[in-house]
Parts: sequence; structure tokens; C-alpha cells
Amino acid sequence: MSEALTNALKKIKRECLRVIPEKPGFAKLMAAETRFAGPAYAEDEELAPICPVCGEKLSFVFQFYPAPDRKALSSSPLLVFYYCFKCTPIGAENEEPGMWLIKPYQTPSPDKFVDGIGVDKEFIAFSCRTEKVQVLPDYETIEEKYPEIAELCEEIDGDDPVSAYEDAGLEVGCEMEPFTSIGGYPIWIQGESERKCPVCKKPMEFIGQIDSQQEVQLMWGDAGCVYLFQCNEHHDRFGMEMQCF
Ligand SMILES: [Zn+2]
Ligand SMILES: [Zn+2]
Repeated sequence: MSEALTNALKKIKRECLRVIPEKPGFAKLMAAETRFAGPAYAEDEELAPICPVCGEKLSFVFQFYPAPDRKALSSSPLLVFYYCFKCTPIGAENEEPGMWLIKPYQTPSPDKFVDGIGVDKEFIAFSCRTEKVQVLPDYETIEEKYPEIAELCEEIDGDDPVSAYEDAGLEVGCEMEPFTSIGGYPIWIQGESERKCPVCKKPMEFIGQIDSQQEVQLMWGDAGCVYLFQCNEHHDRFGMEMQCF
């Protein structure tokens, strides 16, 4: 293994939170916590969000607090993610808006929680725990943004630089397969992508990804993953991309 390569990877690796479903079930006390399925966090007088295309209620999938190290945000709001499993949007920019939704809550608390919104009985509600892990960008991103690292990988294995990259990534303690995570880099299934803010047209920031989760009975296409984005300036603007195998 090349020392130059592992040193270069150590410089760009980032910390993220791995989300691990821990216990099935739901209790009001965990209403505002990071968790899967069951009733979404919602407050007084809110209505269940409806898909504008099929007219069915959206399913609550996952809620989380984005990584707190983002400069513009003093404290991260709770983000609640809903999705229409009948219309299965992939998040493309020309899609009808409203087939998926992220609702932010600045000061969520179990006292303000209203039960019963977004419940999809196909899924099993799960509480979660998180652990800090290290991640690296996708190899495509490396080729684009860090050509000197791609070159090192090619020197090691000209036929299969991606494997050289993945081996080196594991060596420096990084996770190289997709999993449900908050912050860090997206680990793509089908390759590099981005979402632009509809207001300022700048690329949005990656905030987390929701993997298929067997325990929850959550499956995106064929073992796919959902990637979520937020504009750095316009905090109420979100992006989504679904990728599967
Ligand atoms: Zn729909
Ligand atoms: Zn923007």
C-alpha cells in the first residue's frame, strides 16, 4: 500500500454519524429523536401531508438532526422526511413537487408532539443510536476533484484503480459501503450526482443518506439508498435523490 495514498486520504476523510436502528416500537418520549417510521414528529393542528399526484397520504420514513458543524446554523432543526411509495419519485428536478417532503422543526419537543401523522403500517418503527465513523468521497468525485489521488490509485493498480482506492480507504479506517448516515460524504450507488437550489442555483450541501433498512422493512427499489441535500443559504430548500442497484 502506498503511503502517499493513505496520507492523502487521511487529509480528506470526514466524520459522519452512522445511524443504527436499535429497538422496534415507538413511545411519545422519543417523538423528537432520530428514528425510523411510526408517527412522524408533528405539532398542533398540522395535517398529514398528501401526495399531489396520487392523492394518498405520504409515508413518514425517517427524521434526524443534520450534523451541527455547519457554519450558518447555530442549532440544527429536526428534519422529518416523508415519501410517496406509490409514486416512488427519484428526486429529479422535473418531477412534480410534493411526492416527497422534508419538514423542519426548530424547537421540537415531546410535549408539543401530536400523534398519528405519516404512519405507514408497512414499516416497523425503530429507535436509533448513532456512532461516529469516517467516510471518503466516491471514486468518481476523487477523479473529478482530487486528480492527484486518482493518479496514485492508478499507479498502484492501473487495471482497477477503484479497488486500490477502496483498499486504501479501509486501511485508513473509512467505511466504503453505503449505510444510513448523517453528514460526511454521500456514498453513491450509481455514481456522483448533485442537486441545485431552486432559488440560488448553487449546488446544495449533502446532509445525509437513508439506506434500505431490513429491520424497518424499508426498501428503496432494489436495495437502494436515498440522498438528502439542503441549500447552505436557503435552509428551507431541500433536494433528494433515490438511487438503487
Ligand atoms: Zn403519490
Ligand atoms: Zn439557495
